[in-house]
Amino acid sequence: MATVDLIDVKKRFGPAEVIRGISVAIENGEFIVIVGPSGCGKSTLLRMVAGLESVSDGEVRIDGARMNEKEPMDRDIAMVFQNYALYPHMTVRQNMGYSLKISGIPKADIARKVAQAADLLQLSDYLDRKPRQLSGGQRQRVAMGRAIVRQPKLFLFDEPLSNLDAKLRVQMRLEIRELQSKLGVTSLYVTHDQVEAMTMADRMIVMNGGVAEQIGTPLDVYERPETLFAAQFIGSPAMNVIEATTGNGQAVLANGAALTAPAAQAGPVTLGLRPEHLALDPDGPLVLEVSFAEPLGPNTLLHGRLAGSADAFTASLPGVHRLSQGRGQVRLNARPGDLHFFDPQTGRRLA
Ligand code: ADP
Ligand code: MG
Repeated sequence: MATVDLIDVKKRFGPAEVIRGISVAIENGEFIVIVGPSGCGKSTLLRMVAGLESVSDGEVRIDGARMNEKEPMDRDIAMVFQNYALYPHMTVRQNMGYSLKISGIPKADIARKVAQAADLLQLSDYLDRKPRQLSGGQRQRVAMGRAIVRQPKLFLFDEPLSNLDAKLRVQMRLEIRELQSKLGVTSLYVTHDQVEAMTMADRMIVMNGGVAEQIGTPLDVYERPETLFAAQFIGSPAMNVIEATTGNGQAVLANGAALTAPAAQAGPVTLGLRPEHLALDPDGPLVLEVSFAEPLGPNTLLHGRLAGSADAFTASLPGVHRLSQGRGQVRLNARPGDLHFFDPQTGRRLA
């Protein structure tokens, strides 16, 4: 187990600054998810913790000790990648024991550690198979096993589930999370998938363009997004965003629709409304002209535009909702507490 501190960490590739000063203090045993769109710098940040990339500026500390100049093998970490990087010609047993073998650990100890890890991962019956004789989920578990046998201080995962189908991803993310809590090993987990981030993280680092937009628990970020980016990246379907003017306890949209708003705000704002926070209301101020509906079973998504507006807008209503024939319009309302306000210039949350 270990603590990890990133202190104003920066990374430059030539003139391009791809990590622009990230700071976070990670506690013993925490499961931290680094989430953001492709190219935002997630892997680079992880690789700096691993020692696979140099740190241009700032400091990486593990258990309080500066790591910047330490070789990867001296950092006591284990990394699990998307492509598993298993040796095809070796059995599961050999794959899992390989790093111990090259460290010169006695054979009997290797056998014991591999057996323990295999038991934990339900791989005991597959130890003599080659990777190609395994399912995707089993290969993923072997990659995990290889990390576990070394009993590292820190697990680093880089999109480990991207190659699996949707159903297996859901199962494996539970397995990884369960295993991590059982072992209590501090973990950094990279994904572009916001659902994975929401379901797995103790805390997440929402990244965009080399910057940490927000660091917090999944519910923190969902309920109080600090930036417009975090607001729209976390939550599915994405938060609706509309320009509005607030004052006198109202938020007035460009089309004149007025929502009841907390009194504190005054002036132009970017208003955020989560689809699932909209409710049918015959007197509601929002008129949604529905262009198509997606019945998902537990809820129904209505996609369209607000009357008098050109921007796409989505509402998620509980249960099965049938649009009244030929009208294609619903009236909606939102509770004042569910309105999010952002500065139209900076995109930062307004108090
Ligand atoms: P992510 O993992 O979030 O998709 P990466 O960390 O891989 O993003 O990349 C972040 C940015 O840094 C990208 O613009 C990428 O092109 C750039 N980059 C990554 N590695 C290198 C490198 N070795 N040399 C130059 N640019 C790089
Ligand atoms: Mg990456």
